[in-house]
Amino acid sequence: MNGNLKLAIQKKGRLTEKSLDLLKNCGLEIDSYKERLFVSARNFNVDILFLRDDDIPEYVQDGVADIGIVGGNVIEEKNSEVNRVRNLGFGKCKLMFGIPEEESLENPAELQDKVIATSYPEILNKYLDKNSVSAKIIEISGSVEIAPTLGVADYVCDIVSTGTTLKMNKLKKSLTVLESQAELIANKKLSENLSKINLFNELISRIDSALTAKKSKYLMMNVPGESLDSISKIIPSLKSPTIMPLADQELFAVHAVIPADRFWQIVEDLKANGASGILLLPIENMIV
Ligand code: ATP
Ligand code: ZN
Repeated sequence: MNGNLKLAIQKKGRLTEKSLDLLKNCGLEIDSYKERLFVSARNFNVDILFLRDDDIPEYVQDGVADIGIVGGNVIEEKNSEVNRVRNLGFGKCKLMFGIPEEESLENPAELQDKVIATSYPEILNKYLDKNSVSAKIIEISGSVEIAPTLGVADYVCDIVSTGTTLKMNKLKKSLTVLESQAELIANKKLSENLSKINLFNELISRIDSALTAKKSKYLMMNVPGESLDSISKIIPSLKSPTIMPLADQELFAVHAVIPADRFWQIVEDLKANGASGILLLPIENMIV
């Protein structure tokens, strides 16, 4: 046992690559892990444990790992006692009801006495309780969608992203039970370990910077002098933009950090106001 912070991530699956990307964006150097159970970062006192995602909440609860990255759906399903520290913005999905194409389900009350197949019995149970309905839950671990065709269930309750799997089984999306994304979780007693909590706080501030950077982009363009005022008003930047004169006396270079999702809303306005040579660059990191 070393004093390193132990971080659990999914060994192989939808969250693995994005979890590792996030850690790399935090400046952690991680050797390729292949079949190993854990690796230590080369330049930060953290050991990364590779586990099945279903095991992560419990391992963090029991302190086998200090912190972990796992989907909110799994956290909810396992009912583990952990601190939910941050939403990480990836691994987004929804737990939804899938129903036969020709049927309709618009209100939770209509679930009364139905038979529902799911891999998420705990979440479904809580949802039914909250809506004061009772239904029969059939727990299936994989390929939940075939249950209605086989005649073992009326509806399914499953993770849906595009709905293609539902469609292949002549089902369609209905009510949403849970919206989920990858989250950073921590052991409840982590704060009692002074050296680990220091490592944790350092990692959290790096994660926050990485998350902010991902939401922002660096906008650059050339603007004629007479348009500087109108362009400055269009740019949705927190701080005022940087304006620099160019060798061409008529033009100025304008730079600003903007929310990434606003770019396409403003680009036509920028052009209409005389901006040219518009560039949008990713930001690797941003200390706020
Ligand atoms: P493991 O072998 O670790 O148990 P798994 O098969 O249970 O893996 P994955 O399919 O890799 O898990 O999904 C991991 C997590 O990714 C899910 O728990 C969920 O939070 C998230 N996720 C995002 N989009 C989807 C999707 N379309 N289908 C399933 N999970 C998704
Ligand atoms: Zn799993």
